[in-house]
Amino acid sequence: MKRKLAENWKRIEQRVHDACTRADRDPSKVTIVAVTKYATLDIVRALVDIGITDLGESRVQEFTKRAAAANEWLRRRSGSGETTQRPRWHMVGHLQRNKVKPLLPWVDVIHSVDSLRLAEDIDAGSAKLDRVTPILLQINITGQSSQHGVAVAAITHLVEQILTLKNIEVRGLMGIGPLTEDPDESRYAFGRIRELFDEIVALRACGPNFTDLSLGMSNDFEYAIEFGATYVRIGSALLEGIDVGKEPVSAG
Ligand SMILES: *Cc1c(COP(=O)(O)O)cnc(C)c1O
Repeated sequence: MKRKLAENWKRIEQRVHDACTRADRDPSKVTIVAVTKYATLDIVRALVDIGITDLGESRVQEFTKRAAAANEWLRRRSGSGETTQRPRWHMVGHLQRNKVKPLLPWVDVIHSVDSLRLAEDIDAGSAKLDRVTPILLQINITGQSSQHGVAVAAITHLVEQILTLKNIEVRGLMGIGPLTEDPDESRYAFGRIRELFDEIVALRACGPNFTDLSLGMSNDFEYAIEFGATYVRIGSALLEGIDVGKEPVSAG
């Protein structure tokens, strides 16, 4: 399983690299987040062993369990003299306000902030932990009510409001592309979000570290890279040909 996983990872890295070449972009500016929501704990362990540095989860309960387990493996390993970098953990799924407190001690970047009240809770919790939490604002690009995310028309004002909070830093925008096989539909959605990102920067509505675009999943990440994605979130493509022993859970 580990060898297959390493092969899949290499192939995804190569595809990211090729997409960057076509878009005339530097591949080191695109971070692949390995989304582990379909994976078992064994697979997460193999990912950490392979040396994957950015891991993502979509549900808080799984998130804290896995991040804690990974820390423990690494702690034991460093006891035996090996040093492996601690992975960064990304929260990519919908976040409820009552789950902020258990999440915060473990999370490195929250991709899915979609309201001022949620941002305020993250700010208050981060103040208690004496840290500044990096976040992205999730945009509802397609405008469908089934999608989470801030409405396009509300985003600039929300960025400005969050700027006043001291323990949270808005690093950019996140979007989930439309469920489609049509590349033009994906490109249209990613293009819209890129325009929005550029508008916010041009208006100086954001701080200096507003630099990230989290766009693209297994089926559309190459299009997202064309429009400037700095994070791509890859789940199912990583697990191709690996028996995960359970049905995939739905996007959270
Ligand atoms: C599951 C999930 C992913 C990964 O999706 P794949 O299509 O399996 O690559 C990325 N982002 C979010 C928000 C998810 O919930």
